[in-house]
Formats: sequence, C-alpha cells, structure tokens
Amino acid sequence: MSEVVYRDLNDKVILVTGATRGIGKKIACSLAEQGAHVVFNYRGDDAAANALKDELTSIGGKASALKFDVTDTETMKSAIKDFTAEHQITGLVNNAGISKDQLILRLKEEDLQQIIGTNLNAAIMLTSILSRNFLKAKDVSVINVSSVVGLMGNASQVPYAASKAGLIGFTKSYAKELASRNVRCNAICPGFIETDMTQSLDDKVIESYKSVIPLSRMGSGEDVAALCMFLLSKASSYITGEVIKIDGGLYI
Ligand code: NDP
Repeated sequence: MSEVVYRDLNDKVILVTGATRGIGKKIACSLAEQGAHVVFNYRGDDAAANALKDELTSIGGKASALKFDVTDTETMKSAIKDFTAEHQITGLVNNAGISKDQLILRLKEEDLQQIIGTNLNAAIMLTSILSRNFLKAKDVSVINVSSVVGLMGNASQVPYAASKAGLIGFTKSYAKELASRNVRCNAICPGFIETDMTQSLDDKVIESYKSVIPLSRMGSGEDVAALCMFLLSKASSYITGEVIKIDGGLYI
C-alpha cells in the first residue's frame, strides 16, 4: 500500500497502456490503491487481463480493460471511441514499449519500424486520439514513459534510444500546445528497473549496471509507480513539459 494518498486520484479515470505486467502493472495497481478508475490496455492475454481486473477491483479501484495493440491505430481508435462515449478519461500513461538490442551494423529495418512504431508513433497517435476528450476535461495529466537511454544513449540500442528521445520532444511540444487547456504532459526516464525487459540480461551485465548506480540497486516497478502517482495527481499541478529521471543516480 502506498504511503502517500493523493485524494484527487479517486475521481480520475486513467488509461495505462501495456499494463498486464512490468511497470505498467505496478502503475495500474498503485492507481487502484488510490481509488482511481483504472483503464488498462493489453494486447492479447485475456486470462492475464481478467486476473488484473479482479486484482484491481479487490485493491479498491474500478477497472476497465481495453484490448488493442498500440500499433493498430484503427482498433485503438474504435476501443477509445466506445469507451469515451461513456467515460471522460482524465489521465494517460503511455507505458507500452519494446526493446530489441542489436548492433547498428546488424540493424534490420523491420525491427527499427517496430521499435519506433510501438514506443513513439503509437504513443503520439493514442494521445492525439484522446486529445478531443482531454479538451472537455477540467484537468488532465499525461505521462510518457521514456528512459535514461533517451538522454544518455546506449550502445546496441540505437532504435530504442531514438524512440525514447523522440518521446521527450513529443512531451515538450504537447505540453506547450495544450497547457492553456489544463492538459499537462511530462516524461519520466527510468534507469534500470527490475521487470521482464531487464530479466533477460545476463548476470554479468546486471552486476556491471549495479556497480555504476550510486544507489547500488535496480529500481522497482513500485519506485516508478510512486513517481507516476505524483505526476498524475494535482500535487504536481504546476509541472508540465518536464523530464524526470528515476534511475538511482545512474545518469548524474
Ligand atoms: P515489459 O517488457 O515488462 O512490459 C512491456 C509491456 O508493454 C507489456 O505489458 C507488453 O504487453 C506491452 N506492449 C508491448 N508492445 C505492445 C503493443 N504493441 N501493444 C500493447 N501493449 C504492448 O517492460 P517494462 O515494464 O520493463 O517497461 C515498460 C515501459 O518502461 C517501456 O516503455 C520501457 O521501454 C520503459 N522502460 C523500462 C525500463 C526497465 O529497466 N525495465 C527502463 C526504462 C524505460 P505484452 O504482455 O502483450 O507483451
């Protein structure tokens, strides 16, 4: 249970993409703890989605599941249209993402398209689709889940780092464009967080990362979720267009 209560999250309807595992799931669970209506997106695993719905409801939130692949714009549009016909979405976390590490000399164009398509283009499209709905709300907070590698770069991650750097340009532009309508938009840059995405790395790589993290540990999904609760709530109402690292000091 979170130690901090953001009372205004109780009235919020917040969409989190890629939420049946990893960081997205922790964000969804933290929102449910705050009493929010969590609208979680997933692309395939109905059993995992049903289990998450039950979990979120048992924690204390309301839960709705939206099934779409974020790269399938037409299905995404129709799911959002149906949902917003009945509900006003007041927060969005563009979390769904993929990584495929490879040396630039071995880069396959299809991988490049898939990484940029999922991590960057889909986040822009979804935010665009929701923007009309956002204009009708009183205040809205959007979070783009970028990465420290979008700031510092990383060998073998050219497309991934480029997609995450792209999210930062998107965040700042969108924040400027919609600030007058009380829509805020911030990017977060997690460092090395314990999830399936990092579990596949071998132990030596994990140890070498830990040795350069001043706080000497990998982050948890809960660490990231705690920052998201702050950014989604009115506690951060004067923060927009910001890029916040959450990396244990990795990129100081
Ligand atoms: P995981 O691989 O654990 O989870 C990724 C999630 O995104 C899954 O739920 C996955 O769904 C979903 N997803 C991927 N592609 C799509 C798609 N096309 N449509 C819908 N959903 C999709 O990753 P993490 O939880 O570690 O990462 C979450 C975010 O945080 C990502 O954007 C990642 O880049 C970013 N990040 C992670 C860091 C880390 O150290 N873990 C560090 C910095 C940033 P499915 O279950 O169907 O595959």
